[in-house]
Amino acid sequence: MSAYFQPIAKKAINFLRIVLFKLRILYYFILFTLRGDKRKSPEKLAKIRERRFQKLKKQLLKSPYYKEYVQEPMKLEDFPVIDKEIFMDHFDSINSRGIKKKDALEIAFKAEQSRDFSPSLHGITVGLSTGTSGNKGIFLVSKKEKAQWVAAMLDRVVGFSTKKRKIAFFLRANSSLYEASNSRLLSFNFFDLMAPFEQNFQRLNQLHADILIAQPSALRLIANSYQEQNIIPGFSKVISVAEVLESNDRSYLESVFQLQLDEVYQCTEGFLAFSCPHGNLHLNEDFLIIEKDYLDEDKKRYSPIITDLYRETQAVIRYKLNDILVQGIKCSCGCNFDVIEKIEGRTDDLIQLKNKAGKAINIFPDFFSRAISIASDQISYYELIQKKENSLSLYVEHHGNEEEIQHNLQKQIRDLLARFEVEHTEIQFIQSPELKKGQKLRRIRNEYIQTSENKS
Ligand SMILES: [Zn+2]
Repeated sequence: MSAYFQPIAKKAINFLRIVLFKLRILYYFILFTLRGDKRKSPEKLAKIRERRFQKLKKQLLKSPYYKEYVQEPMKLEDFPVIDKEIFMDHFDSINSRGIKKKDALEIAFKAEQSRDFSPSLHGITVGLSTGTSGNKGIFLVSKKEKAQWVAAMLDRVVGFSTKKRKIAFFLRANSSLYEASNSRLLSFNFFDLMAPFEQNFQRLNQLHADILIAQPSALRLIANSYQEQNIIPGFSKVISVAEVLESNDRSYLESVFQLQLDEVYQCTEGFLAFSCPHGNLHLNEDFLIIEKDYLDEDKKRYSPIITDLYRETQAVIRYKLNDILVQGIKCSCGCNFDVIEKIEGRTDDLIQLKNKAGKAINIFPDFFSRAISIASDQISYYELIQKKENSLSLYVEHHGNEEEIQHNLQKQIRDLLARFEVEHTEIQFIQSPELKKGQKLRRIRNEYIQTSENKS
């Protein structure tokens, strides 16, 4: 008897779990809609965040790392600012579920190798971040946090519709976090970036997806294939994620897909910002506290220090990201969340050269990308890498005259360097790209500072 009923009971419990999870998503989605935080004034939003922070503090009592900060009546400013290294070093004590880093890593690596991304640890989803090298990050998400994430994505990115829609998601690694979005109305289709591209494109073409989500480098490949094969893509929404989206890529992609490209700023540390109908990137200021660590004197660029008011399993408190964000101006779409004009890259990729007085000067990657786009509009791809103290390596793909393009590039870059009084810098053209398949696209990279400081 029991042998007969056991599988049925198991199935029933599983079914109930799924139903409960979907109800949870619906609950948070309704909550986001009813609250209408996006339209609240900045002052009111600050009060709401403070209230949510006080609520989060109660949960932090379960985190050995944060317990002492919560027992005392401390303000957010009294908590330590941490970075990825500290976050990972204190993994065991930061998380509130007693999960050990080595167990989480084991699960995440196994998933990465088998390409089966469903396993979890005591009901907690374990994910691996797209670290550029050895310093990988792991993240933990509970069912509740997963439901909140899906609801926020539905509210801000995908949009709700009673029509059945298909999403094609190109990722380096899948996660059950993303698959959680699957429902009768929304079917989620994972495309493994590690699989051969032709195979992926064929599948994508047959799928007839409504929404396409991928990083700009993958979007470019997809757009190229549509053009080459003379197929008109029929997406209703295309969303760029995970990499810096440059303006020339944006215009190319928008012309091929014939729509306004959306952007999502999402990383291991959470869902940070989304594009509004006016095409501006808004930070999720209802569940994130963003402190700004300014990188320039006129307070235009900053690295965000984020506190996620929804993450309890693995608290994200005053976590400093090394991204370079450019402050935007208030948007007239009706959403009062702070605007980022763009994400420029990472502070690790600031190009650092010595000027004629011998002083080290930091130059933002964006200056170089602008100089390169001014040099020629026939460049389809490039990589600019600082490998030595005063030396830049440049790889360029183009459909123009090699000599002329190289000459213009030299001139534009030299003019740029002259503005910073940098004189003796070697500009070397290299013959092949250095980024490998599946690696995150960072067109402008500083490999010199990273190796000299032994950073990863
Ligand atoms: Zn807006």
